[in-house]
Amino acid sequence: MARKLIAGNWKMNLLRDEGTALARDLALRLARTVDPAFDLLICPPATIIAPIAAAVAGSGLLVGGQDCHSAPSGAHTGDIAARMLADLGCSHVIVGHSERRQDHGEIDLMVAEKARAAQAEGMVAIICIGETEAERNAGRAPQICSRQIAGSLPRGATAENTVIAYEPIWAIGTGRTPTAAEVADTHAHIRAMLAVHVPAEAAGIRILYGGSVKPSNAAELLSLANVDGALVGGASLKADDFWAIAQAI
Ligand code: PEP
Repeated sequence: MARKLIAGNWKMNLLRDEGTALARDLALRLARTVDPAFDLLICPPATIIAPIAAAVAGSGLLVGGQDCHSAPSGAHTGDIAARMLADLGCSHVIVGHSERRQDHGEIDLMVAEKARAAQAEGMVAIICIGETEAERNAGRAPQICSRQIAGSLPRGATAENTVIAYEPIWAIGTGRTPTAAEVADTHAHIRAMLAVHVPAEAAGIRILYGGSVKPSNAAELLSLANVDGALVGGASLKADDFWAIAQAI
């Protein structure tokens, strides 16, 4: 199994100077760490990826995008092609985050196309899935995850080019998380679904947990079977908190 991946989703936060300072801080900590037990990734807003990628080059800190378009170029005002992110030095792209699904009407098929576009440019697609609170209360979390995996996983997904992020929507930014047993159950279910769709790759595809991960709960969440890392929102905006989460492995 690959090293755990600790990924920070900065969302629509931070301007160039503050983002570059945060990235430099993390890069310095990483560079001083001998044989880290984790891969560390930050996904800044697209507007500041270029200066950040330049500032942290060679440190081992990975930089990714938060979304991409499925087309390589063309008449898509305001959108960003996967190849543009790759051109800046991005290694990963988050696709299908619940905020994109909600705010921009992204459906599974679009997510699969975005993931395929990212992979075609040599990047890793971090495909986000997860149920709403109503769906969980109705006992439908497994079915929702199954449906989203079936629809969002592109053909040709491998352990090298694909990461799944399980993010229960009701846990994002709320301070609430599922119990450890619930996370373990859902991750085992996701692994089983991957085995159905990509049997030869399923064991190696990293499955991240996301939703109110913080220093105080990271050790427990990251110790669970089939939890191969974390996708971190709010706590990734503070170097001490994000670093503490990585250190909890
Ligand atoms: C996210 O939006 O991907 C996320 C996990 O946010 P938070 O950690 O703030 O819940």
